[in-house]
Amino acid sequence: MSDADWHRFLEFSEKLETPCVVINLRSIKKNYIKLQNSFPYAQIYYAVKANPAPQVISLVAELGSNFDIASRYELDKVLSLGIPPERISYGNTIKKAQDIAYFFEHGIRMFATDSKEDLKNIAKYAPGARVYVRILVENSATADWPLSRKFGCHPDMAYDLLVLARDLGLTPNGISFHVGSQQRDIGQWNDAIAKTKYLMTSLEEEEGIKLQMINMGGGFPADYVEPTNDLKEYASEITRYLHDDFGDEVPHIVLEPGRSLVGNSGILISEVVLISRKNNTALNRWVYQDTGKFNGLIETLGESIKYPIVTLKDGPNVKTGEVIVAGPTCDSMDIMYEDCKYKLPLDLKIGDRLYWLSTGAYTTSYASVEFNGFPPIRAYYME
Ligand SMILES: *Cc1c(COP(=O)(O)O)cnc(C)c1O
Repeated sequence: MSDADWHRFLEFSEKLETPCVVINLRSIKKNYIKLQNSFPYAQIYYAVKANPAPQVISLVAELGSNFDIASRYELDKVLSLGIPPERISYGNTIKKAQDIAYFFEHGIRMFATDSKEDLKNIAKYAPGARVYVRILVENSATADWPLSRKFGCHPDMAYDLLVLARDLGLTPNGISFHVGSQQRDIGQWNDAIAKTKYLMTSLEEEEGIKLQMINMGGGFPADYVEPTNDLKEYASEITRYLHDDFGDEVPHIVLEPGRSLVGNSGILISEVVLISRKNNTALNRWVYQDTGKFNGLIETLGESIKYPIVTLKDGPNVKTGEVIVAGPTCDSMDIMYEDCKYKLPLDLKIGDRLYWLSTGAYTTSYASVEFNGFPPIRAYYME
């Protein structure tokens, strides 16, 4: 962030009551344009769950985005903002039959699946629709927020499902995968693309099914404490993998970014409620603040996502000391960082603010409604 942006943010947020998240819409626009320029051949489907605010949805819609939707509630919201059903796909592989019918009635014709039962429901309640099958990819070691195991099926099963899709009168459209969110190892896309290529070739040769599309999911990074490659690096590597496997006949490519579009745009502001030590000689301070795991910071679960934390007392010559950072609720799970040794200024005081950078994704939408009476964290949008 430039100094000018930081000052604009401070001015904007000075009078706001904490806790809150401030979303910088300009930064989302910049991220979107950078992503589209890095993958000029790809069609973007914004993963709405990352930040479902109408301001965000409308902004990316204006920039040309399509939408990856996971529930009928997200669908209602996106449709109510005037986005046409042709720009929407139902990307959740776990859904009720009546939800499929609801999407179909509202004009959605693109469905993800990874199981026989779900596929049969799609054939029944969304006849003739296009389907893509999500394959399992291994990603837990190098993704900070893995999406493995729960979603996708083995490529052999994906093969059978796509044949069945055709036999049930659906249109087998493609393969999808998600290499895990905040995926730091670009090589993961190589493995997934190679599996996809193999699957596509055998479906065409053995069944005459020619798939049109690869949905490469999300997984591109936001800026947290642990460094990642620049998006440009991801794009040039992934583009090379595609050409290595498919030559000049690369299928239609879909991306479903969430974190990488909106993560960097947010700053969560909390206030220090209490600073204490657990015994007279303890070196560590406990820093309790007015929001926590149940109100915006759920991705600190297992200390998975390490947000950079800054204060107005930071500086090159400022003495700092190790802290344990915890939230305000009466649940001992409400501790954000204990093993990752965060350091904060020694002269940090009750009432000071902490600024949690890169909190634009998976924060506001994850806040609980009333735990200990705390209302869900508020969000503000800077033009
Ligand atoms: C959550 C999700 C995404 C977004 O992933 P990011 O890593 O945040 O970019 C994309 N596709 C699907 C199917 C998802 O569930």
